[in-house]
Amino acid sequence: MRRTRIVATIGPASESDEVIKDLIEAGVDVFRLSFAHGDIPSGVERLRRVRALAPDVAIMVDIPGPKIRAGSFGAQAVELVSASRVELAEGFGETSTAERIVVEREDVLSLLRIGDKVHIGDGGVSLEIVSTGDSVRALVAAGGMVTGKPGLSLPSSLLNDRLPTADDRARLEALREEEFEILAVSFVRSAFDIVSTRSVLSRDDILIMAKIETSEGVTNLDEIIAVSDAIMVARGDLGVRMPIEEVPHLQKNIVRHGIRYARPVVVATQMLESMTHAQVPTRAEVTDVANAVLDGASAVMLSGETAIGDDPVATVVTMDRIVRRAEAYFPYEQWGAGLGVQETVGTGTQSLRITAAITGAAWRAAMEEKAVAIVACTRSGMTARAISRFRPPMPIIAITPSEGTARQLRSSWGVQETYLSPYTDIDELCDFAVSQLKVSGTAKVGDTVIVMAGSTSGGAQITDTVRLVIVT
Ligand code: PEP
Repeated sequence: MRRTRIVATIGPASESDEVIKDLIEAGVDVFRLSFAHGDIPSGVERLRRVRALAPDVAIMVDIPGPKIRAGSFGAQAVELVSASRVELAEGFGETSTAERIVVEREDVLSLLRIGDKVHIGDGGVSLEIVSTGDSVRALVAAGGMVTGKPGLSLPSSLLNDRLPTADDRARLEALREEEFEILAVSFVRSAFDIVSTRSVLSRDDILIMAKIETSEGVTNLDEIIAVSDAIMVARGDLGVRMPIEEVPHLQKNIVRHGIRYARPVVVATQMLESMTHAQVPTRAEVTDVANAVLDGASAVMLSGETAIGDDPVATVVTMDRIVRRAEAYFPYEQWGAGLGVQETVGTGTQSLRITAAITGAAWRAAMEEKAVAIVACTRSGMTARAISRFRPPMPIIAITPSEGTARQLRSSWGVQETYLSPYTDIDELCDFAVSQLKVSGTAKVGDTVIVMAGSTSGGAQITDTVRLVIVT
């Protein structure tokens, strides 16, 4: 079993029913649907179609925040030649060319100053503004190929939007009744951005994932993680907003923070970029994916590779192979032994602390007794996420009454199976867990299984019990 999750972005190359089914077969755990392109009704229609095709896969909806996009360059790559000049013009739904780039955002061109840098997409193409006023012109400082509707990165001081932006609000309203599991929030700069997005969405069944991709997001990492349910190292924008040599260190730091707070962490962007068109990734990309696993990422993400690539399924198959190989080398025992205490902040701190203590005890007991599985009985998924941070070598099994929680746990490292069960009594839960594990072949008579479950303690449902069950 692969323990690190694979997130695949759906786009024109992968949205047909056949490819979606093949991607599931190839091992995708989470489908990411970007709500940055197209209108809201077609985004919702696509979400419903993917849900119907993928009832057991988690769906991540990604809202764009203040991301600015260029008018489409079309499906064929267009070359922006270094040292050539281009005009920037405001417009919507118009085509961009090598001579005229359409900026799909009102009232932003007038804020640009001579010397400002504008980065295009994640591929290193950049412009330098050389004239402002009625005609905004730029020099192509670093040329390259551009395709589709790439993002335009303007100096962040120009974009003071608080989240959610007006466009994001419209999307959140349209999503209020829809079935999905994770909301990825772009360009998060403070805890406030997450708190206000959560309040506009008004749903406690959705994991809110903060995309860390701005310098403010890096500076305010602790306060952002404290109020988020999951995080993403969004290396594309991060790499144009921060010095590029910082990216590997930021990645390691953000992953470590996620582990400290028991939040799933996705490492994203350009992981197998060359496979957008090639059949084999570069050695550097293979090493990057393996290193993300060794850093402790809960999931690795494919973006353009599966959205617009030539062979999305082959890319997922390749990623699966790289991840499995890296996991064979993962230092499970040292990882768990070296973990500090889980960071527990915010409301319900006492129950979080108790769950954290129980998961620590469960991990130790599982290692000492060489248990065949750790079972987390969990309503919201929190207990499963908390044990997942220990990266135990044995399978983590979740038992939950909620189908939504079961799907959400597809984004958590190592949760091998999730069983739906209405039981709340610990004896019944232990019997149920053992019978399921025997049926699946994970446990046999004489094995030890660790079960974490809860009681109503101090008026709240808390995971406060760890039991070592000998299978009979
Ligand atoms: C990124 O910038 O790395 C990212 C994941 O965000 P998006 O793909 O939405 O630009």
